[in-house]
Amino acid sequence: MAVNLDPTLLAVLACPSEDHAPLVVGTPSNPDAAALTCTHCRRSFRVDDDRVPVLLLAEAFYDPAAKPPS
Ligand SMILES: [Zn+2]
Repeated sequence: MAVNLDPTLLAVLACPSEDHAPLVVGTPSNPDAAALTCTHCRRSFRVDDDRVPVLLLAEAFYDPAAKPPS
């Protein structure tokens, strides 16, 4: 099921890494994934219950299709 976040909330959420870049819904390989992906460092963060973003670096993961910044 796709993430169902309020667009206003999504607009103010930012990556917890130093880049604090905007997040987009889904992962590079699955736009419908229950996750948010940083537009800068490409870390992905899961979204619990399709509405609770877990924006913790310790919980971040890289989608196999995402390339970490060099
Ligand atoms: Zn980031």
